[in-house]
Amino acid sequence: MLDIMKRITNIIKKLDDERSRKIIFLSHCILNENTRYPGGAFTGGMLSNVVQEIDRKGYGIVQLPCPEQRAWGGVLKKYMLLSYGLNNSGSLLNTFRTFLFPLFILHTKWVYKKMARDTIKMIEDYKNSGFDIIGIVGVDGSPTCGISTCLEMGKAFDYCAGLNIESIDRKIYNNKMYGKYLKQGKGLFFLEMEKILRRKDIAITYYSHDLVRETKGESIQCCL
Ligand code: SF4
Repeated sequence: MLDIMKRITNIIKKLDDERSRKIIFLSHCILNENTRYPGGAFTGGMLSNVVQEIDRKGYGIVQLPCPEQRAWGGVLKKYMLLSYGLNNSGSLLNTFRTFLFPLFILHTKWVYKKMARDTIKMIEDYKNSGFDIIGIVGVDGSPTCGISTCLEMGKAFDYCAGLNIESIDRKIYNNKMYGKYLKQGKGLFFLEMEKILRRKDIAITYYSHDLVRETKGESIQCCL
């Protein structure tokens, strides 16, 4: 085994190249806002100021998968949209919502836990191979990828259930959502990440892009 490792190290040394060996992990929508909830994308694609800064610093980017896309019915997040206007829908879903909502959260946490495990395997691979992990960039305000702030899922769900679909307005929706249901702390995906990182005693630096300011059209400096 020692012999094999020696050979591998030797090959890598002989073939030394320009890679920086510095890696940063990004929440998916920083590179692709097309996965955001309807009304939550403010660029056609990526947040170019973040990408430019990373490029300037010479880091390699690992784009994390979008947890909500995985857990909430694909890129359109269909399961989440089922809650919109539920109060006046006459749907059976509304009758059973007190039972269904906890199941939805359980399912979400189960998917996120699996994703967190896969992400940490990737982090460990880079670390064990001699790469520096610069950090992970999350998205403040997201109920999933928030780092210092996130939405309260239960209250946000109730707000969505009370929406009148016919008169729904993007600006009012975003203002209400982030004006009323924001709380301190990490979103559900990063809570799962945190549990495993702590157990494995892996230290990670977190950065966060501010989605709340983005919804207000404020100019946002790169968080790095
Ligand atoms: S904040 Fe996270 S869950 Fe929300 S769209 Fe971005 S990557 Fe997906």
